Amino acid sequence: TTHQKIALVTGANKGIGRAVAEQLAALGMTVLVGARDPQRGEEAAAALRAAGGIVHAVTLDVTDQATARAVATWVEERFGHLDVLINNAGITGSGQVSPQDAYDQVPSSVDLDMVRTVFETNVFGVIAVTNAMLPLLRRSPAPRIVNVSSHAASLTLTSDPDGPFAALMPSAAYTPSKAALNALTVQYANELRKDGILSNAVAPGYVDTDSNNHTGHLTPAQGAAVVVGLATLGADGPTGGFFGEDGPLPW
Ligand code: NDP
Repeated sequence: TTHQKIALVTGANKGIGRAVAEQLAALGMTVLVGARDPQRGEEAAAALRAAGGIVHAVTLDVTDQATARAVATWVEERFGHLDVLINNAGITGSGQVSPQDAYDQVPSSVDLDMVRTVFETNVFGVIAVTNAMLPLLRRSPAPRIVNVSSHAASLTLTSDPDGPFAALMPSAAYTPSKAALNALTVQYANELRKDGILSNAVAPGYVDTDSNNHTGHLTPAQGAAVVVGLATLGADGPTGGFFGEDGPLPW
C-alpha cells in the first residue's frame, strides 16, 4: 500500500494558513485545517474540498492544550500518523485596539498582558501543538515541521540601524515572539535531527491578509509557496534553518 501523506496546518481557516492548506491538498496530501472556531474551519475545509482536495476541519486552539490532545487522538485513530506539521497560527497583537495593536507594543509603554497574550499563541502554542503531534510525526517516513516566522524575527535585520526594519514601530511583543519561535525551531531541530525530523522556520514575506489590514504586497498563495517548499523537503534537506522566498535568512 502507498503511504498517504497527512498534513496539519494550524490557523488554516484564512490567510497564509488557508493558502498553505490549499497547496498541500493540491499536492495530494490529506490536509487537516486547524481552526479555533469550528464553523470558520468547516467553511474553509468545505471550500477546499469543493476545489478537489481531501480536507478535514479540526478544532484546534493552539492556546488550549486539550484541543491539541483531542486532535492528536483523532488523527491517531483515523490515520495513525502525521507527516507534516505547519505551525502557522499567529497573532500580531491582542486585537483589542486594532488588528495589529502595533502602537500598543512600544517597549517603554507595553502592557505585559499584551506580551503574554502574543507569546501564548506565537510561542507557547507552538510547543503545545508540536509536542502533541510528535508521537504521530515519528511514525512518518519523512516528517517535516515548518514554523511560520517573520523577517521581524531576524535580530541581524532588525538590529541594523540603517536597515529597513529599524524604521518599523518598535515592538516588545510580536517581534520578540517570532525571535523566540526561531530559537525554538533550532532547539527542536537539534533534538530531532537524529530522528530524521526536519524542522525549519520560514518568513513568508509581507502578505495581504487580515493581520496587516491587507497592506501586504504578496498574495497568500505567494506567501504560502515558501512554506510549502519547506514542508516538502527531501531527506537531504536542511533542518534548524530560517528561510525566505530567496533562500536562507540571517538570524
Ligand atoms: P491571519 O490573521 O489572516 O490568520 C491567522 C490565523 O491564525 C487565523 O486562522 C486565526 O484564526 C489563527 N489563529 C490565531 N490565534 C489562534 C489560536 N489561538 N489557535 C488557532 N488558530 C489561531 O494572518 P496571516 O495569515 O497573515 O498569518 C499567518 C502567520 O504568518 C502568522 O504566524 C503570522 O505571524 C505570520 N506572518 C504573516 C505575515 C504577513 O505579512 N501576513 C508576515 C510574517 C509572518 P481566527 O480566524 O479564528 O482568528
